[in-house]
Amino acid sequence: MIRLADIRKSFGNHEVLKGVSETFKTGEVTCIIGPSGSGKSTLLRCINLLEQPNSGEIFIEGTRAYYDVVDGRIRLHAEARISRERRKLGMVFQDFALFPHRTALGNVTEGLIYSLGLPKGEADDIARRMLARVGLSGHVAHYPDELSGGQKQRVAIARALAMSPKAMLFDEPTSALDPELVGEVLEVMKDLSSEGMTMIIVTHEMKFAREIAHKVIFIDQGAVVEEGPPGEVFDAPQHERTQNFLKRVIR
Ligand code: ADP
Ligand code: MG
Repeated sequence: MIRLADIRKSFGNHEVLKGVSETFKTGEVTCIIGPSGSGKSTLLRCINLLEQPNSGEIFIEGTRAYYDVVDGRIRLHAEARISRERRKLGMVFQDFALFPHRTALGNVTEGLIYSLGLPKGEADDIARRMLARVGLSGHVAHYPDELSGGQKQRVAIARALAMSPKAMLFDEPTSALDPELVGEVLEVMKDLSSEGMTMIIVTHEMKFAREIAHKVIFIDQGAVVEEGPPGEVFDAPQHERTQNFLKRVIR
């Protein structure tokens, strides 16, 4: 579904991603773990071009996404093509990123109406279905500040799903939530996984990662140190850096 080839990204002279190559298969759930500042968010943001890599290539469904590399230089695709490519991936952020002045329904219909150009009635129908899917049929008319953190994050997931993405990217979707609200968001993500959604999830929820992930990737200092099925990475980590990280985060 998604393939990264030697992705590098620097901010100034700080190289944050030092050549990441990965394949994310259709229907597979990948959890990315690693210390704070290791480049996890930057990697996710490169995958949907919220950040532009300095070099390396991104393939979505077998075709080169966002840009071509010509004589070693990045040549961006036309804007409309980039928009289409980016729409293949839904993104969910730690801080929800909802529009405060729009209801749950309005947040979900926004992209359908303004990006896809759907008529309002059709957008409303899709949005209601997506909100039902995340258990929020009773909250369509609520504004973000009338919703709990867990509900807000479920609206954000519904909003991403409404655009019919091929894959979903999650950047620490439960890190901003009170502990008692984490479960309802993880449940929705588990449902998506069981429906076959391809997902890439940056998370500190190790128990969840162990349950849901087909593949776990441990990133440290901008590079993949170790990856494999959760049983291998969590129970028999091969690298000292992975072992030390897991010792610190698993109590
Ligand atoms: P993680 O998500 O693993 O905590 P990030 O990808 O957010 O790590 O950040 C990796 C490194 O890149 C950090 O040192 C961070 O300060 C730096 N960084 C991230 N975004 C920017 C930016 N827009 N400008 C400058 N430095 C950045
Ligand atoms: Mg991050």
